[in-house]
Amino acid sequence: MSNCAIVGINWGDEGKGRMVDLITQDYDVVIRYQGGGNAGHTVVNEFGKFALHLLPSGIFRSGVVNILGNGVALDCESLWTEMEDVRSKGVAITPESLKISDRASLLLPWHRDLDGLEEARLKDKKYGSTKQGIAPFYSDKYQKKTVMAGELLYPEHLEAHLRDLLEWKNLTLTKVYGAKPYTMVELMDWMADFGEKIKPFICDTGAFLQQASAEGKKILFEAQLGSLRDLDYGIYPYTTSSNAIAAYAPVGSGAPWVKIDDAVGVVKAYSSCVGEGPFTCEWFGEEAERLREAGGEYGAKTGRPRRVGPIDLVATRYGVSVQGATAIALTKLDVLSYMDKIPVCAHYTLDGKQTDAFPFPALLAEAKPVMEFMDGWNCDISGARKWEDLPPAAQRYVEMVEQAIGCHIRYVSVGPERDSIVIR
Ligand code: GDP
Repeated sequence: MSNCAIVGINWGDEGKGRMVDLITQDYDVVIRYQGGGNAGHTVVNEFGKFALHLLPSGIFRSGVVNILGNGVALDCESLWTEMEDVRSKGVAITPESLKISDRASLLLPWHRDLDGLEEARLKDKKYGSTKQGIAPFYSDKYQKKTVMAGELLYPEHLEAHLRDLLEWKNLTLTKVYGAKPYTMVELMDWMADFGEKIKPFICDTGAFLQQASAEGKKILFEAQLGSLRDLDYGIYPYTTSSNAIAAYAPVGSGAPWVKIDDAVGVVKAYSSCVGEGPFTCEWFGEEAERLREAGGEYGAKTGRPRRVGPIDLVATRYGVSVQGATAIALTKLDVLSYMDKIPVCAHYTLDGKQTDAFPFPALLAEAKPVMEFMDGWNCDISGARKWEDLPPAAQRYVEMVEQAIGCHIRYVSVGPERDSIVIR
């Protein structure tokens, strides 16, 4: 069996969706293994432009089986909205093309409420949550206080389980936050609506993957967010609440026996970051606005302007190492075409000393970037399809990044469309 994980190397929004959409042509199964509807993968193809939140990006390829693994935060409500949207543009989604793990836990309506209530309590110390309920969901999952999708197939068991959870959750809602309690009727109505809609897609995806792997099918794992937002290896506490790294892919997918053959790390040619937390290379004012406009850096889910800056080689090298990346896709190189000189963050200074090591999260806010400059190429490169099509200055930029991060750059993306790619 050959398999590949496509993962983000930085803070997310590197263009993973675009790369999965391209690479799925060589794979039989695409799996989302962590995260929920809190981020968006943008995919542009013959059906149109999509911001996918939960659906795996292989959903557009006929014959590809898409799986939502046990590691995802299964928000039936937003999943259904997304399915309706994608279907309305002519893409078929059937129980053959989409399979939901019976072991995926359900994100319940109160998780979203609690996310908003906690961010409101934190006020200016907030983590910048997208308020999709992800942090409360994963807290509950690890406390064993939510339900698995497979329980929808056993209604009596589900009702008794929900009744227990309701009693416990209402204590937090009312006593900690002074919020309105949920009733059993509300919960069951929600289940009857959204739970029923996704029920036909729920199955034992572990058994499916055993079979698929025995038949030599090729599996692609699709991450959400990037290394620096990984719960354990990222910039805690400004991380997401799950593990986004490639090493978690087999666990969160229902195929824990799998060894990853190829981990393709997606790196953007500059930096962007959504939400709070230290962001060493951040630009402000006019130069930030120009880069944000050139790269269209507005959140796929929220529309929020993203924080932007030049590429951060220290953070990127760290991201490559925690992912165990075997190859890199460098995206959005075309966005830098307007710059005469391209700044890159080559090192940090911390405590008055220059360093190439990515600092412990608590020290990160004190790190300062050490900038170097590369020559720009000052021409449109979006039509490049071969390495030789790229001007020498653009080639030098790619080679410089490759050398600095110590990993081969296999793909250079020069536009959002499927074929705007140079493969080396
Ligand atoms: P993801 O979450 O990692 O998939 O990233 P996002 O979808 O949030 O952000 C990537 C954005 O950049 C999307 O709007 C893509 O269509 C776009 N994109 C991806 N690759 C390129 C590229 O090489 N050039 C340009 N101009 N846009 C790109």
